[in-house]
Amino acid sequence: VEHYLQNIKEKAELNAFLEVFEQEAITQADIVDHKIANGTAGKLAGMVIGIKDVLAYKGHSLQASSKILDGFKSLYNASAVERLIQEDAIIIGRQNCDEFAMGASNESSAFGNVLNADDTSRVPGGSSGGSAVAVQADLCLVSIGSDTGGSVRQPAAFCGVVGFKPTYSRISRYGLIAYASSFDQIGFIAKSVADAALLLEVVAGKDGMDSTASERDVPAYSELLSTDKKYKIGYIRDCFENEGLDAEVKEAILGVKEMLKDDGHQVEAVDFPYLDYIVPTYYILTTAEASSNLGRYDGVKYGFRSGNVTDLTSLYKKTRAEGFGHEVQRRIMLGTFVLSADYYDAYYTKAQKVRRLIKEKTDELLQEYDFLILPTAPTTAFKIGENIENPLAMYLADIFTVQASLAGVPAISIPAGRDANGLSIGLQLMTRSFEEPQLLAFSNYIM
Ligand code: GLN
Repeated sequence: VEHYLQNIKEKAELNAFLEVFEQEAITQADIVDHKIANGTAGKLAGMVIGIKDVLAYKGHSLQASSKILDGFKSLYNASAVERLIQEDAIIIGRQNCDEFAMGASNESSAFGNVLNADDTSRVPGGSSGGSAVAVQADLCLVSIGSDTGGSVRQPAAFCGVVGFKPTYSRISRYGLIAYASSFDQIGFIAKSVADAALLLEVVAGKDGMDSTASERDVPAYSELLSTDKKYKIGYIRDCFENEGLDAEVKEAILGVKEMLKDDGHQVEAVDFPYLDYIVPTYYILTTAEASSNLGRYDGVKYGFRSGNVTDLTSLYKKTRAEGFGHEVQRRIMLGTFVLSADYYDAYYTKAQKVRRLIKEKTDELLQEYDFLILPTAPTTAFKIGENIENPLAMYLADIFTVQASLAGVPAISIPAGRDANGLSIGLQLMTRSFEEPQLLAFSNYIM
């Protein structure tokens, strides 16, 4: 704990943490020390964890990096956070992220950008940028974040660490601030696959507080990390032919593909004909869900309230205009539009149908192949400010991560080398729903 607290102080300019629980972490470390001495310590004893500012931690501020939640403190623990605490994890702080987890660069936080520790003129990715940089820069051992369309995987790729999103519903969402509920999934950022597996083992499983959480048994993921099986792997040809794909990223991922072939795995090109539709489908559905989920921030129930109001309507309007940042406002407007009476069928219903096609095609490929491999992101970490004026370019940064989110299947990003500028490249693997054991074991083998 002292080691991490020291690093957090020395690397404060990275802006990864919004708040550090210094005294609490030290006290907790002492308690855990005693438990270790009497042999009563839990599975995560001594694991120093940072939590993204979208997960409720009782008695602590919770803001989704937004001004609209100024002054809000959580009254309860998210189920995932509760389970970490039960197993004696040490929570060291609350991590910066894109406002309401909307973004791919951590430039939409009300608390400023997070800087990539490999090159501080570049973004860390998003939305879990603070969580990824915290692991990258050794400010904590692991981070717990959320992934709606790539928010754990893409920043992990940009920061050279492991980012893992389990199957939709594998982890309870109780106490996770909602962005797009049919996509949101808690995930982990770590230096090793083994740490991510241990975290999943602790937090996964049924929960009386979230009826969508799966009731399936939770395997001992951390004990299932070795494999010598020869797998059938599909690489999505369309991704490698995508014009936005950086040449060095392409070469690195194709290099891994060749290595797997040489190791005796069966590796084949597969077609995924919906690549051009996945980003539009994702943004229509997620903005629709977000516009509904964010309706609750009205200045009455939580956090910030504009002072300058005359009646109830102006209270709503001014609070929301002053409390939400630009990107969040853009998405609320887009989502409200696609749900409006005149356009619902043309956009929302259509996008739901396309989501179904994408899910069916993905599941069909995963019946034939154990894994699909592709890059995590089309480029390495881009410059701060590079995409900020162009939301469409920013949205296209998600082109390779949203497929798993639309289909609800588990996916992981693992480091796969660096480009000529020393920036890290992420390899992404997807597998069938609830086949996390083989996903983790195979990623562990590749790393
Ligand atoms: N970049 C994507 C978005 O802005 C993903 C965000 C996320 O997974 N929370 O929606």
